[in-house]
Amino acid sequence: MLDRDADLNTFQRKKSSRSLESKASIHTFFLRDDVSRMTTGRKQTITVRKKKMQKRLLSDTLKNLHRKFGSEKSDNVSYCLFCACRPFWVVAPTDADRATCQCKTHENLQFMADTLYSHGIVVSKNIEEMVDRTVCATDMKACAYGDCVECRLTTHPTLKSATEEIVQVVQWSTERTGEEERKTITLKKEVQSTESDLVSKFQENLFKFRKHLLTSGGNTVLTDSYGKASKPTSA
Ligand SMILES: [Zn+2]
Ligand SMILES: [Zn+2]
Repeated sequence: MLDRDADLNTFQRKKSSRSLESKASIHTFFLRDDVSRMTTGRKQTITVRKKKMQKRLLSDTLKNLHRKFGSEKSDNVSYCLFCACRPFWVVAPTDADRATCQCKTHENLQFMADTLYSHGIVVSKNIEEMVDRTVCATDMKACAYGDCVECRLTTHPTLKSATEEIVQVVQWSTERTGEEERKTITLKKEVQSTESDLVSKFQENLFKFRKHLLTSGGNTVLTDSYGKASKPTSA
């Protein structure tokens, strides 16, 4: 009788540790970059019980993702359990989510600008305004692609020369979690850099950002004429 009870306990313990394992693997699954995409917008956060998290957007319907999970894992978890183990910040995209550019390029450049601004190196931290300062016109394809002789080499003005002082800059970084290429996770990291390295990286990325602004829909009109462009009236 005693032995039977002991066996039963072991059995129950085994069973519950297995279900804990499934829950953890479902949780991890939802956070994979091929299952949900990290948002970077400042307003794209969800708070539950005082825990504020950056939203991640599901790449597919829960039904399809449940099927995907089942095809990869040997243990069959029910659709109910699968849905119940979804982290609260992993959600289906809304129209507002679709409207904002959610790329890391945008946000990483913003973090660099924030650091440079707080160190008194640049006068503004509005990255679209900063791009505007380096080109003849933000809607000119030639300027955005670096084909315009007038602004090809223009960098953003700095207020003082950068030093070798170490500064902290936040960056979104993608890291692999498993053997396979697609199993990655995107996370925010504090990166160290010298002021002068950060300035050169910023200038380089600001240049790439011209094209990104034009192609990501940040600017409405795309002027396809090459050649000399004059700055819009706002200058
Ligand atoms: Zn973007
Ligand atoms: Zn130009």
